[in-house]
Amino acid sequence: MGRFLSFGETSRRIAEADSVAVIGLGRFGSSLALELMASGTEVLGIDGSEEVVQDHNSRLTQVVRADATKEEVLRQLAVDEFDRVVLAIGTDIKASILVASLLLQLNVPVIWAKAVDEQHGRILEQLGVHHVIYPEKDMGRRVAHLVRGAASDYLEIDRGYAIVKTAAPAEVQGVPLGETDLRRRHGVTIAAFRGASNEWANADADTVLHEGDVVLVVGPTRRVESFAQLR
Ligand code: ATP
Repeated sequence: MGRFLSFGETSRRIAEADSVAVIGLGRFGSSLALELMASGTEVLGIDGSEEVVQDHNSRLTQVVRADATKEEVLRQLAVDEFDRVVLAIGTDIKASILVASLLLQLNVPVIWAKAVDEQHGRILEQLGVHHVIYPEKDMGRRVAHLVRGAASDYLEIDRGYAIVKTAAPAEVQGVPLGETDLRRRHGVTIAAFRGASNEWANADADTVLHEGDVVLVVGPTRRVESFAQLR
């Protein structure tokens, strides 16, 4: 276990910065960790596979090969000093549950954990994990809306409320948005638009859209989907 001591010093330093520990660098954990790095967050990555660790060397602030189901390992790597930990072990449900319970025992303030199915998610929630995420289920639902409609991007903010990116339909072109009666007729709000300059800007009552503009529409899921179907 002593071999983690020097890693521990580095992790302790990382924990002091705006940082996240990611346990499990499979497809989900890896893409999350790399995205955090790209947005300027320091990341400690932990994975049991040598190959995976090699693959992430120098791409994360620090990567350590270790079995995260062992409490001494988590302590030595100073995982308990991180404000945010992402548990991205999925398929090995037993390992996921063990690590989740250790993280809770170590009083990690914010734990995000990936669940592979409802049962797994329910156990993580019952344990007290703060945020349980279902990447495959959520992505499936999101893509279903993209396949179904004319939206070019779609994000459900909460059950029944969404934001979509779509082409500005003819009926909102050429007049200030304030005069389109959009909220009453369609129950949606245009929050932003991308015009000829190719730059996004916030939309207001004086905004006049043109053919070819792209808009971000916010509102109840059904209403924004219907709006995205307009031509
Ligand atoms: P994904 O779909 O994101 O690729 P997955 O759901 O298939 O991942 P797993 O294969 O269970 O998830 O694990 C993801 C990563 O976690 C793997 O790289 C694996 O080596 C690592 N891992 C699994 N168990 C442990 C453990 N006990 N300690 C550290 N790392 C682990």
